Amino acid sequence: MSVAYIGLGSNLGKRCKMLQQAVARLRQLPKTQVVATSSVYESPPIDMSRQNHFLNAVCKITTELSPKTLLAALKEIERSLGRPERYARWSPRPIDLDILFYDHQVLNQDGLTIPHSEIPNRKFVLLPMLELDDYFHPVLKKHLSTLLAETNDASPVLKTKISIALQQEN
Ligand code: AMP
Repeated sequence: MSVAYIGLGSNLGKRCKMLQQAVARLRQLPKTQVVATSSVYESPPIDMSRQNHFLNAVCKITTELSPKTLLAALKEIERSLGRPERYARWSPRPIDLDILFYDHQVLNQDGLTIPHSEIPNRKFVLLPMLELDDYFHPVLKKHLSTLLAETNDASPVLKTKISIALQQEN
């Protein structure tokens, strides 16, 4: 059984509902349990365009799925929640699911990079992730609290009162 952290983001449509549905789908994955869910944070879009702000959260899961199978399952969840196959980078999206960490594995193959390459540059990942664990980054060899202290991400990332933790599927 492995431990993985999944980053969730939405900035299109009913963003809160999207996150809730994504967590419900994660719960339904075979050989997988959602063991913790962070608060929901609101952050401006990365390119600061006139897009909607994002809602972001992180789920901790235990799973017997391999990283590759887990990524395929996440893409399937994205599709099932209405996300088209191809997207321009930074374009608005109903749901975005990323594997942030998978145990302390370091992987870079078949279009999959673990740990996710943008972790140190994204407060909207570092803040919710830190609520769950001050994880040790196996490539940068630093804990997430250190990465947060050192990040160059100066964007305002606000904790909301929205809860997706105990939401059951509708
Ligand atoms: P995004 O636009 O963030 O959804 O990125 C989509 C692509 O990034 C996916 O098709 C994956 O192949 C690739 N990718 C690389 N590493 C990861 C990761 N750790 N988690 C999710 N997607 C990843």
